[in-house]
Amino acid sequence: MTAIAPRITPDLNELNRPFWTGGAEGVLQITRCQACRRWIFPLSATCAECGEPTVYEATSGQGTVFTHTTNEYPYNPAVPVPYNISIVELADQEGLRFTTNVVGCPPEEVHIGMPVRVQFEPHGEVFVPVFIPVFIPVFIPDSSGGE
Ligand SMILES: [Zn+2]
Repeated sequence: MTAIAPRITPDLNELNRPFWTGGAEGVLQITRCQACRRWIFPLSATCAECGEPTVYEATSGQGTVFTHTTNEYPYNPAVPVPYNISIVELADQEGLRFTTNVVGCPPEEVHIGMPVRVQFEPHGEVFVPVFIPVFIPVFIPDSSGGE
């Protein structure tokens, strides 16, 4: 199991609680407009497009790397470097992006357009969404059969 680096976790409030605690159920939840159905991030109680109220809904948790960088500077000595910082665009809506970390592979293997899916780092009550690579299965012919 990979060690989990320390993080500065957010203060939970009525608006952000489902986003930061949904990971307990393995679900990335984001506010969504009930009138025009747009996902709204940064989180908001009202729609940035039409002004109607939002509620939390579960996203697919699937996305792609929009852009990325590798941090090599030890800003926090407790956090091992290098590590990835990415902006991931969720598959649920064009332009639905947020800043996160791609983990589960060396930082140099992260690339633009890489398919990723959410997983969560538990920090007490808060579950921080990070992303791991989705490896496309490669077909390997079975050579053990008859020939
Ligand atoms: Zn709306």
